[in-house]
Amino acid sequence: MLTEFGLGDRVEMRKKHACGGNEWVITRTGADIRIRCAKCGRSVMLDRGDFMRAAKKRLAAAETEQAAGAEVNERNEENDG
Ligand SMILES: [Zn+2]
Repeated sequence: MLTEFGLGDRVEMRKKHACGGNEWVITRTGADIRIRCAKCGRSVMLDRGDFMRAAKKRLAAAETEQAAGAEVNERNEENDG
């Protein structure tokens, strides 16, 4: 069950899509939720309640146009021997 989500969020659904992908992007919110399969690009429209039940969890925020400026730096651990 997923209760907090927003436009552009990446979510994982309980059920895999027919294409095998399990990552979706929310492209529309409101009474109905539209999600797009990140793998094959297919869009699916779901009732808000259905979506919340079918969604498993929200994935880490992706690089979206709106998230400009938020840079993720990977840190390498260095051991000084
Ligand atoms: Zn798909």
